[in-house]
Amino acid sequence: MMRPLHAKEIDHAVKECILCGRCLEVCPLVSATGREELSPKAKHTLARVLRQEPERLEGKHVAELAGLCLACGRCEKACPQGLCTPEAVADLRHAHPDLKQWLWKQWIEKGGALWPALAWLSRRLPEGRAEPSPRYDAFKTMGSGPGITPFLRVSNFPDAGLGREAVLFPGCTARRLFPAWTDRAAELLAGLGFSLPKKQPDWACCGSTLGHAGCTEAQHEAQQANLDAWRKAGRPLIVTFCATCRCGLRGYPDADLSWEPGEALRWNESVTSLAHFMADVTIESTGEPPAAVYYHKPCHGSGLAGAGADEALLARALGDRYAGTTGDVCCGMGGIMQLGAPQLSRQVADTLWTRLNPSAGSLVLTGCSGCVLQLKATAPEGVAVGHWLEAFSPQNG
Ligand code: SF4
Ligand code: SF4
Ligand code: SF4
Repeated sequence: MMRPLHAKEIDHAVKECILCGRCLEVCPLVSATGREELSPKAKHTLARVLRQEPERLEGKHVAELAGLCLACGRCEKACPQGLCTPEAVADLRHAHPDLKQWLWKQWIEKGGALWPALAWLSRRLPEGRAEPSPRYDAFKTMGSGPGITPFLRVSNFPDAGLGREAVLFPGCTARRLFPAWTDRAAELLAGLGFSLPKKQPDWACCGSTLGHAGCTEAQHEAQQANLDAWRKAGRPLIVTFCATCRCGLRGYPDADLSWEPGEALRWNESVTSLAHFMADVTIESTGEPPAAVYYHKPCHGSGLAGAGADEALLARALGDRYAGTTGDVCCGMGGIMQLGAPQLSRQVADTLWTRLNPSAGSLVLTGCSGCVLQLKATAPEGVAVGHWLEAFSPQNG
């Protein structure tokens, strides 16, 4: 027998799926596999059956089906009912937890020592493995792939900061695997005239990936810890260079945290992207850029003000070496889905690479930590992938 519904699940019932099928056109899982049972429409049908006739479904099957979503959010933008599939899927995952959730929670919360060790190992994996395996790819997401030789530098900064206090929110991936991103971001912020503390706040995960995985309590704890860290730092500007972190942080005012009057609005106004402040910097070349440089648009945060600032920065800096975006296609990272269905994640990535068909020697830059990991692990041979910050040389180098 299934357990009774939570209040939040009942709330989803107020807005029903009208089976119009518009979401099928935008769901990366459907595009990559042609399988309609993976669609947002199917997930909302599953949620409805659970609400109305819970005895028809077994918890194990619900957990399996609920695991098959990348949480990219593309369907919500297309849905005339405004249904948020990642939220509905997170509710299903929360109500029907399995081992994958426990593992994902440990992975995110306690990966401080494990991630760098796996990254070290992944860089020693043999290239050109005879039989490609999605689980092997998942391991490779820990930081394999060629590094990038920087070819840009900021030669002149406008005083965008005016001495304002700012802190960086690097996110788990930068903290654990790519500390150079944070170093570069700190140099750029200092150049822009912001005042940075000697020690950055003791941040937790932004909570997005925990929330999508249905680890609701862990997400709430992470959000509250970050709110407390911001208060302790004196409520400065929070500057991010990962679209998914920014999207997660901007969602905090909707969460039931210990907000003081007016504080949620101030929080939201404080969360800004680094590229947003770089619109008027002067950029010079410090080396020859690759023949073609693409930009991968992260799904998350695409509707937020300031989205696209990093792409505009690169396009301006690269001139005719800028080859455009990788298309309006998700990378297939999918967070917890990497544990349950890595082959689907790989199929979505393959769709992107097949459509783009980049030549060897090309470079793909992006502004989302998750996209960097996924694209690095799945890129065709000879194609480099990195965060856009990696294109910039150290300011004092
Ligand atoms: S969030 Fe993305 S992967 Fe999940 S159902 Fe919607 S479009 Fe498909
Ligand atoms: S777009 Fe929305 S209403 Fe239409 S089928 Fe998809 S989930 Fe249902
Ligand atoms: S990792 Fe990037 S492309 Fe993939 S779902 Fe998240 S934001 Fe979208």
